[in-house]
Amino acid sequence: MAELVRAKKHLGQHFLTDEKIAVAIVESLKHTDKYKKVLEIGPGMGVLTKYLLQQTGYETTVIDIDYDSIAYLKTNYPEIKDRIIEGDFLKYNFEEYTTEPFAVIGNFPYNISSQILFKVLENRNAVPELVGMFQKEVAERLAGKPRTKAYGILTVLLQTFYNIEYLFTVHENVFSPPPKVKSAVIRVTRNERVKLPVDENLFFKVVKTGFNQRRKMLGNALKPLGVDLVPAQRFLTQRAEELDVEEFIQLTSLLYPTEK
Ligand code: SAH
Repeated sequence: MAELVRAKKHLGQHFLTDEKIAVAIVESLKHTDKYKKVLEIGPGMGVLTKYLLQQTGYETTVIDIDYDSIAYLKTNYPEIKDRIIEGDFLKYNFEEYTTEPFAVIGNFPYNISSQILFKVLENRNAVPELVGMFQKEVAERLAGKPRTKAYGILTVLLQTFYNIEYLFTVHENVFSPPPKVKSAVIRVTRNERVKLPVDENLFFKVVKTGFNQRRKMLGNALKPLGVDLVPAQRFLTQRAEELDVEEFIQLTSLLYPTEK
């Protein structure tokens, strides 16, 4: 046995100590025939990895930024020594890993959980499914519905291409060290919307601008776009948080009618 890894705060390390929860997270992967590979982000000492390796039907690879965790995994999981990557997930080039589709799983470092999702969104053609532990508040935001406080930019962008299911809440005392907040596990499954009927960058820009001043009605909040808002008249007396994904798409096509 290698020595246990001492938790480093700047890497968002909170090690899960409850094996039942580890099993529940691993079993939350639906494992459809859409993928045969799974990438675990931030395995730490391998509490999820252990159960991922028991699954037949997909092959698990892990990536962690922490040298001590990598050393621990190499000692304790020699059977996957060629599938243990030392690196920063956010800077990682997936093509070095595989050109096949793969699912993402992890008890994520909370300080970079939004960035993980943005990276998955950018690479959505490669990632049909994600199961992950987030701060409860972030999980609620991701699964949020219009007209709730939690509904925001990342909610809309993620829900454009994925369905989000809030699976279960996890108490802070099952981690070492315990985080300050509760956690929750969600499942993110790619939906059928492969391509938007509007330019994707403009769509993202409309969503972000709308939420930048989320208390204002869109007639004011969208002024920074510098385009004629009149064609989108029917949305201008609503707030960004009232619009669902379809309505944001309509709004974008009204504001930028020629640019498809
Ligand atoms: N899965 C383990 C550890 C979770 S803590 C468990 O449940 O116990 C989060 C893990 O993410 C740590 O191992 C940390 O080293 C790793 N990590 C933090 N930032 C990372 C990054 N940018 N890329 C990959 N791994 C990262």
